[in-house]
Amino acid sequence: ELVVVSNNGLQHYQAKVIILTMGCRERTRGAINIPGARPSGIYTAGVAQELINLKNYMVGEKIVVLGSGDIGLIMARRLTLEGAEVIMVAEKLPYSSGLPRNINQCLYDFDIPLLLNHTVVDIEGNGRLSGVTIAQLGKRGGIIQKSKRKIACDTLLLSVGLIPENELSREAGVVLDKITGGPQVDERGQTNVPGIFACGNVLQVHDIVDNVSLEAEYIVEGVVECFEGKLTKEGEIKVELGKGLRYVVPQ
Ligand SMILES: Cc1cc2nc3c(=O)[nH]c(=O)nc-3n(C[C@H](O)[C@H](O)[C@H](O)COP(=O)(O)OP(=O)(O)OC[C@H]3O[C@@H](n4cnc5c(N)ncnc54)[C@H](O)[C@@H]3O)c2cc1C
Repeated sequence: ELVVVSNNGLQHYQAKVIILTMGCRERTRGAINIPGARPSGIYTAGVAQELINLKNYMVGEKIVVLGSGDIGLIMARRLTLEGAEVIMVAEKLPYSSGLPRNINQCLYDFDIPLLLNHTVVDIEGNGRLSGVTIAQLGKRGGIIQKSKRKIACDTLLLSVGLIPENELSREAGVVLDKITGGPQVDERGQTNVPGIFACGNVLQVHDIVDNVSLEAEYIVEGVVECFEGKLTKEGEIKVELGKGLRYVVPQ
């Protein structure tokens, strides 16, 4: 049974098949534990996009971007084109996980520095953000104290990863993959709970929405077979990770 809350109140539904497509939530400042003051002016990339694209509201003038995945890189360019000064993009890893094309076209073409092995370690501001402290990270990820320096800015844009939104899945008894954070599925996209399928960002993080569409198309056959009561399990083969691979879906 599904219990749904909407403007029409509480409703109860029976379903033969449920497809989980709750997507991801963005990591916030709290999720990555940045200490310091709690002023306004700290946005996740998604919130900043919504304010700029849908509400025509510019988020700030002097901006530090934290995180150099493709979303952080694209946001750095976007904010520059909207008239802001992007002071730097800081990345805690020794490399950017963004495409080389995006590093060139979003940062270097606009003279925006990319600081690898760097993160924000403190936040200042009374009311509005007035500055952040950045520091270099050592080989084991610890802060190199003497590298700390203050950067005056009015906005900190966080682009530091996504977490699959799986509270409902957990409550439904769906087994989750420790690495992806999403459900474990078979080759039809079905979870360990018969009749519950998953696809899209709730299953694994997709940077590009085209791959989400492909994944949705891929599971349709199994969903229809399940709906018609024709889906059978013909023995399971556990997929094992080869060298250099972090995870594999279906598991
Ligand atoms: C900041 C940002 C920028 C991006 N830019 C691009 C881009 O330029 N190009 C591109 O191709 N991709 C981009 N992506 C990636 C793209 O957005 C995702 O790959 C795609 O949206 C995932 O689709 P989805 O349907 O799985 O999840 P989502 O699009 O996240 O949709 C999930 C939906 O489920 C809803 N939901 C969650 N829980 C519940 C619940 N309990 N009950 C009811 N509803 C619920 C959510 O509110 C949401 O509307 C970007 C992602 C981010 C975060």
